[in-house]
Formats: sequence, C-alpha cells, structure tokens
Amino acid sequence: MKIRNRIALQFSLIVASILLTFSLIIYFTTATFSREDFYERLKKKARTTARFLIQVNEVDQNLLKIIDRNTLTALYDEKVLVFDEQNRLIYASVDDQIIHYQRSLLDEVRQQKEVETWSDENQLVGIAYEEGGRNLVILASAYDRVGRNKQKNLRFTLIWGLAGGIGLTIGLGIFFAGQSLRPIDEINTQISTITARNLRQRLDEGDRRDEIDQLAVNFNAVLGRLEQAFEQQRSFVSHASHELRTPLASLKSELQLGLRRRLDAAEYEDILSNLLSDTDRLIGLTNSLLFLARTLENISQMPLAPVQMEEVVLLARDELLSAKPQYRVEFDYDNLPQSETETTVSGNEELLKRVILNLMDNACKYSADHTAHVRIGTDDRSCWVSVRDQGIGLAPEETELIFEPFHRAANAVGYEGFGIGLSICQRIIELHQGRISVESRLGEGSQFVVHLNHL
Ligand code: ADP
Repeated sequence: MKIRNRIALQFSLIVASILLTFSLIIYFTTATFSREDFYERLKKKARTTARFLIQVNEVDQNLLKIIDRNTLTALYDEKVLVFDEQNRLIYASVDDQIIHYQRSLLDEVRQQKEVETWSDENQLVGIAYEEGGRNLVILASAYDRVGRNKQKNLRFTLIWGLAGGIGLTIGLGIFFAGQSLRPIDEINTQISTITARNLRQRLDEGDRRDEIDQLAVNFNAVLGRLEQAFEQQRSFVSHASHELRTPLASLKSELQLGLRRRLDAAEYEDILSNLLSDTDRLIGLTNSLLFLARTLENISQMPLAPVQMEEVVLLARDELLSAKPQYRVEFDYDNLPQSETETTVSGNEELLKRVILNLMDNACKYSADHTAHVRIGTDDRSCWVSVRDQGIGLAPEETELIFEPFHRAANAVGYEGFGIGLSICQRIIELHQGRISVESRLGEGSQFVVHLNHL
C-alpha cells in the first residue's frame, strides 16, 4: 500500500473512531435523559391522579377520566390504573385498553415504593401512594412519542453526520498526505535519473528548511562523496595500470632482446638479472597495491590493542636496517616522557610499524647522508613521532599532493619508488583517528610528524 493511502487510512480510522465514540456517547446519554425525564412525568401524572381520587372524595370517575385525557400535559397512549389495599382496581383512566401487568408487579411496587419498567413499547411506572390512611398502588404508562421522535432525529443526524465526516476525512487525508509526500515523489523521480555516469547531478534542495529538503541536502552530500570516491578509484586504476605497464614493457623488451640473436653467457646473465629486478619491482608494486586495497576494505575489522610507540619505532628501525644496512637512524630522546602510558596508543602494531618504517625509509632514501632523525614526544592528549631528514625536501605546492596515491614530487625522479607509501601511511593513521603532517623546505630537508591519541 502506498504511504499516502496508508496515512489517509490511519488518519480516517482515528477520526472515525473518535467521531463514532462521541456520537454513541451523545446518543445514549440523550436517550437516558429522555427516558428518565419521561418516567418523572409519568410519576407526576400518577401522583396527580391519586391525589384527585383521594382528596376529592366523591369525585366523579368519568370526570377524572375526561380531565386525565384532556389536560395539556396528557401523554400519548396514556393509561393510569389505581389499586386499593386489596389490589382491586378502583380506577382506570381508559375503559377499553388495559395495561398489561403482572399481579406480582403490585406487590413489588408496595415493597419498593417506586418501580420503573416497560410495558411493550410504553414506559411504565408503579408507585405506592399513602395518604389519608389509604395505601394505593398506581400504575401509569405512556408512549414517549416526542422523546422517541427526538431520538430518531438525533440518530438520523448522527449517522449522516458520521458518514459525511468520515468521507470528508478520507478525502482530506488523501489530499493532504498527497500534498505532503509530493516532494518525496519529486525526489524519487530525480534520483531515478542518477546513474554512475552522471554522479555530478544534484537534487533540488528547496529552501533547506523542512525534513525533505534536509533529506535532499544529505543525499547530495552522499552523492558528493560517491563522486569523489569514483574519481579517486578511476585515477587510482589508471595510475596503477600505468605503473604496472612500465616494468612489464621493460620486461618485454628485455625478452625480445634475448630472443633476437644468440648472445653469450654474460649477456644472458645480464638480461636475466634485469628481468629479476623488474620482476621484483612488479612484485613490490602489486604487494603495495594489495595492501592499500586491504587497508581500505578492513577498516571496521582492524584489531586494536595497546601499542608502545617506542617499541614500534625500534622494530621499524631494526627491520629497515636489516634490509638496507647502508641507512642510518638516529634517536633523539630529549622529549621522551617518563611514563610509558603517555607513549602507549590504541592501535595495530603491525600497521603502525609500517608507517614509521615507510617514513624512515623515505627520510634515508631522499637524503644524501641516508640518515633519519627520529623523536618521540607527548602532549596532553597525543603521542607524536617525528621523522626528520636533511635531504632533497619538497616544494610548498607538493606537500599536500604527496599523500595522493601515485603522486611523486618532481625532484623524486631518479629515486626508486611508486608514490604509494605515503597514501598507505595516511590511510593507516586515519584508521587510528590520528593525523600525519609534513613540513619541508626544498633542498633543505623534511620533517614528517605522526600524531596519535595516547591512552
Ligand atoms: P615513494 O617514496 O615510493 O615515491 P611515497 O608515497 O612514500 O612514495 O612518497 C611520495 C612522494 O613524496 C615521493 O615520491 C617523494 O616525492 C615525496 N617524499 C616522501 N618522503 C620524502 C622525503 N623524506 N623527502 C622528500 N620527498 C619526500
């Protein structure tokens, strides 16, 4: 069922039940009042007749009948019967019609003094009347024509009012629900035209005030992020293919060279060693790409544990120096805090080691003295590790770009590398809710600082 119809239906059901409840209350309260009122009138009538009978001793019964029938207050189909102490009928306001009553009713009236009941369609009251030493029982019955007519009119008015009210509610419900949901229909139509090819398209945000405008604003923000992610993915794929093609092309030309003519053993050896280094390069590149893809994927599953940053730095240094013994890593312990907890962060040791290793490797690689200067320090909230070198440095406009995948500064030509390491570092630090920054001067050196919240 459409939301519009559902809202209209729910709204109508609520209004209909309220109207119905009110109508029933009004109807039954009026009916009760009218019945009670009529019983009161019947009682008055009964007492008046009895009074006449007793006080005017010799009253002519025929005259009383005529008075009974012709008074202004005469009720429709009115009958009054008066019984003496022995339950003998001593007066009846009508001759031909009789009230249907049970003898036991008279006893009940004597016992209870007043009884209200029904005789067919007519209301009937019985009252015990004591005056002048006489104990009479009077039964009076009549049909409440005015009251019944009023009730009939009320019923008619309520039923039609109710039907009209419900009909109107359904109509208005559908109309207003449709009006309020129309912007959603419009948004739906706009969304259905958005595909991966036209992610630049945006939804109409109206005046950005109501909830639906806010929905459009948020949806546009999501579209913006999607567009950016698509763009990054596109450039990543094109860069990755480019990087993979270069060593593959070089592999191919080495192989062609080997096949073109017969070579001596030394030349073959030369070609094979070139092939090996190109293959190593390819393996290194694919490993980095794989790693980057995995760290992007496994954001939520990364296991976190307390990690000692001094420990991480030492592990990274050992790993770097065992792979590249010509490099040097120097520590400056000046800022190292006394307490170990200040240098303990919550994270993944393996990933953090990879970051520090990469920064040390770069510092050594891009400096003539192949030396990285490392410092660890803390402030109120974070623990920081800085890796400084006195190498080739970076032009100011490059400092932001080097964190993009595959971006290499102009002065890095001639140095080995793919331009992926720093983007992996940044990704890892972001996963740890930290930040990585760089300060650098072209030709003078660079300093990379990693900030992580300590425990
Ligand atoms: P790679 O070093 O493999 O090229 P990275 O992602 O680690 O890839 O670095 C990206 C680029 O940032 C490098 O190509 C280089 O231009 C620049 N860079 C990184 N570290 C330094 C540094 N310590 N000194 C100067 N330039 C650096």
